[in-house]
Amino acid sequence: MKFNTKTIHGGQDNVDPAYGSVMPPIYQTSTYSQSTPGGHKGFEYSRSGNPTRASLEKSLASIENGNYGLAFGSGLAAIDAVMKLFKPGDEIISTNDLYGGSYRLFTSIFEGLGIKFHFIGMQDAAKIEDYINPNTKLIWVETPTNPMMNIIDIEAVSAIAKKNDLLLAVDNTFATPYLQLPLDLGADIVMHSATKYLGGHSDVVMGGLVVKDEKLAEKLYFIQNASGAVCGPQDSFLVLRGIKTLHLRMQRHCENGEAVAKFLRSHPKVDKVYWPGFEDHPNHDIAKKQMKGFGGMISFTTKENTLKSATQIVEKLKVFTLAESLGGVESLAGHPATMTHASIPAEERAKTGVTDSLIRLSVGVEDEEDLLADLKHAIG
Ligand SMILES: *Cc1c(COP(=O)(O)O)cnc(C)c1O
Repeated sequence: MKFNTKTIHGGQDNVDPAYGSVMPPIYQTSTYSQSTPGGHKGFEYSRSGNPTRASLEKSLASIENGNYGLAFGSGLAAIDAVMKLFKPGDEIISTNDLYGGSYRLFTSIFEGLGIKFHFIGMQDAAKIEDYINPNTKLIWVETPTNPMMNIIDIEAVSAIAKKNDLLLAVDNTFATPYLQLPLDLGADIVMHSATKYLGGHSDVVMGGLVVKDEKLAEKLYFIQNASGAVCGPQDSFLVLRGIKTLHLRMQRHCENGEAVAKFLRSHPKVDKVYWPGFEDHPNHDIAKKQMKGFGGMISFTTKENTLKSATQIVEKLKVFTLAESLGGVESLAGHPATMTHASIPAEERAKTGVTDSLIRLSVGVEDEEDLLADLKHAIG
């Protein structure tokens, strides 16, 4: 099956043995009757497994070219499950330009439990080797990064991981499997905030993991069941429904993203535009090699590099909604310095480029003309 077919049919055979409904029923149940102790039809208790969630998990595995999918109550719950594979003394090397919530989970929870993290720039993959020692267990990669849209060469990092017998996990939230397939590039674990593009309609919070290896899947399933951060059947249904149009939405996100990126770059009041599709983006060649398109996430700064100018722009936007999050059908604008990245001190933010005038856009699937007109009006 090719990708577009997989988004609709992947793992979806016989979702309703009772009546043959095309969509899986929402099995809104916590438990399942047994004919004799232990005599059940594959499901005992909905933390351990639920048929609607199982349909979604099979879909996730299919679209990411993996063998096993696991769905969680949020993206962070999925990352939390990965971290529970490790024990005190273990070390993890992570990208430094990273989703703020992942950074908080790593430093405020798991560092306190004895896991050591190294946050490094990975645009030059060879640099990773300087941080590997006998305690290193995992490399954690986010690409494209948030909000600076740096691209990391998954294949190159994977070669280093394999050489040193380390696991490689990739947060594929921004790219989605439509644009990039980390397992095919050598990653062991793919992680998603399904809240974003997979769900795609800003109506659910959910996370997912996909792996190829059976033993790793068993360990993660044990954690999913033992820790219990699962998602409900209604939300599973919604994300499954979202995935069925992922390829259509992503195609438009990419088209609109390109139009917005080019518009911004040509605007006299705009300073820098961060979008991996530009030929002079520092990691454009890697993006071209490992991604099918460049996505709908764009960050930019204005020449009047002040908090006031950025605030005025985001307040004037009408089609773009000022809000956290990304990946929905509607266009969103965010101001990292005061929103997603507010907890990071200004000097630290400036080092990675998150200045006071940086605005991040999640370009939706509206008409391009309306999006450009909105930006034109707001930037002035
Ligand atoms: C949103 C997000 C997360 C966290 O997911 P939640 O569903 O909000 O818990 C992790 N990584 C990236 C890249 C994200 O954008």
